[in-house]
Amino acid sequence: MGIDLLSTMGKTCTFDCIYCQLGRTLCSEIKRREFVSLDSLVKELKRVESIAADYATFSGMGEPTLASNLGEAIELVKSILKLPVAVLTNSSLLTGEDVRHELYLADVVVAKVDAPNEELFRKINRPVMGLTLGEIIKALKLFREKYRGKFALQMMFVETNKSYAFDMAKIAEQLSPDEVQINTPLRPCGVSPLSPAELASAEREFGNLENVVTVYTALKPEVKPFDLAETLRRRPKL
Ligand code: SF4
Repeated sequence: MGIDLLSTMGKTCTFDCIYCQLGRTLCSEIKRREFVSLDSLVKELKRVESIAADYATFSGMGEPTLASNLGEAIELVKSILKLPVAVLTNSSLLTGEDVRHELYLADVVVAKVDAPNEELFRKINRPVMGLTLGEIIKALKLFREKYRGKFALQMMFVETNKSYAFDMAKIAEQLSPDEVQINTPLRPCGVSPLSPAELASAEREFGNLENVVTVYTALKPEVKPFDLAETLRRRPKL
């Protein structure tokens, strides 16, 4: 079950990735704030508590760690829905100790790293000024040391970084993830996906890691839109 703690009309993010399925970032932000109150969240959770799901997943219209009440929201979701909680993050705000502490509450954290160096980081993720890949990787290491849930690393491969799979694998090795998800954008967006053969070639560089899956070979969980209008709002390019 997807939970959007931003719920803004346009995308609100610290990045503006070239492959984003939500279109361009309308609100570039780096400062955390409250977007949806905990009272509103409780009302929504009560509405959906009888719906069967395997996980409650914080993602939505941008970067979920921008919500300053994420930690409290994770606790509320666990107590009301009685589901394990996953958070999908672009990793940028893990440089803040507050964000790392809030994410310790999640059962699964899926963190993104798409670039092997600062130049490609700026080209692929188009971050808010001031964010650097070096600081983000340092923060991910700090997070990894203490986090006791499942830590998955998500790496998106496109034309721009496809010849850097070796360097990306070295970054992944430093972070000891429980799982590596090798992706290429299959949903409509501004760039073309790599072919299965190109992705398989990238995957071969990850031979020193366990549990490496690619978007072409991973099992896809069954997903049903529960509110079609809302789903379309979140995936405007579908
Ligand atoms: S981090 Fe996610 S939401 Fe933000 S621009 Fe990149 S793909 Fe889109």
